[in-house]
Amino acid sequence: MSEHRLVVRRFGGPEVIEPEPLADTPVAAGKVRVRHRAIGVNFIDTYHRTGLYPQPLPAPLGVEAAGVVEAIGAGVSGVAVGQRVAYMTAEPGSYATRADLDPAILVTLPDAIDDETAAAVLLKGVTVQTLVHGCARMEAGQTALVHAAAGGVGRLMVPWLAAIGVRVIAHAGNADKAAIARGLGAEVALDCPYGELAAAVRAATGGRGVDVAFDGVGAASWEASLDSLRPRGLMASFGNASGPVPPASPLELAKRGSLFLTRPRVFDYVATRAEMDSAASDLFKMVGSGKIAAEIGLRLPLDQAAEAHRALEGRRTTGSIVLLP
Ligand code: NDP
Repeated sequence: MSEHRLVVRRFGGPEVIEPEPLADTPVAAGKVRVRHRAIGVNFIDTYHRTGLYPQPLPAPLGVEAAGVVEAIGAGVSGVAVGQRVAYMTAEPGSYATRADLDPAILVTLPDAIDDETAAAVLLKGVTVQTLVHGCARMEAGQTALVHAAAGGVGRLMVPWLAAIGVRVIAHAGNADKAAIARGLGAEVALDCPYGELAAAVRAATGGRGVDVAFDGVGAASWEASLDSLRPRGLMASFGNASGPVPPASPLELAKRGSLFLTRPRVFDYVATRAEMDSAASDLFKMVGSGKIAAEIGLRLPLDQAAEAHRALEGRRTTGSIVLLP
């Protein structure tokens, strides 16, 4: 099949992902056609596939890609054919050979950022920028707990925090991943069961606990994160890799010392063009300066997206996954 995208016609496991041809129509007025060169895989794609975040069916998948502008619809200005761009979007559809997009979401790629790097870091790196600065407003000298520290987001968050002088206590699912986190600048890197984590974090912080817990693991790590925080610390629960956090009473926050809880979504922090440009610019500076690096742990052809999902959900990946159309 030449021009196509991947969709799910029913929610389920990786096997429900299937190709669907794209019509041979010209780009509509107000839209820009982007030829994809590299597509980023994110854990949220699995939530769209399973229906944890339900979409109308048939539901396209994928929330970011990098490529080149191929055609421009009537009425669009400020974009040129041949321009290298990337995008992240709350409306899935990037698992495709091409996409017709609102030009307002396009980010122009600097020459120094190649297509695969852009697909590997844009959504995950902008997420890190917004969590660290917009959400938690971290400052040098503070301490943070980072889960899944060798994963896509974690692998960018650990060195980002270290670069701004935050002391990082990392957690990962095994010793090899913990070693990766240590190599990225984590002062302490743990791979103990979640039931033992809070005690280890207390031991590493002289009993005080961390200022912020960045938790994208969700259900499995929820208690460990709360128990690792200092009084008035911030729980930033930003994902559900192990399943969604069950309903919890605000008293859980009170009894651990007046904790703060937030459930941030990156798109609420880059809701305006100015916010998106600022976050992307910060990210490209961090990559350009070598303070953080894209690590593509797995490259697969677009049509093997199901295998990418199996690896991600099976905790078998480190760094980012990129699909190649
Ligand atoms: P990752 O590459 O980090 O993969 C998820 C990791 O979670 C795994 O590698 C694994 O690391 C850990 N994990 C722990 N328990 C489980 C489990 N039961 N099943 C699967 N994984 C588990 O994915 P991403 O970088 O794409 O995303 C990380 C998190 O960030 C996700 O929860 C995602 O939804 C969230 N996110 C949220 C955003 C927002 O706007 N709120 C935006 C972007 C991402 P280990 O084995 O080391 O524990």
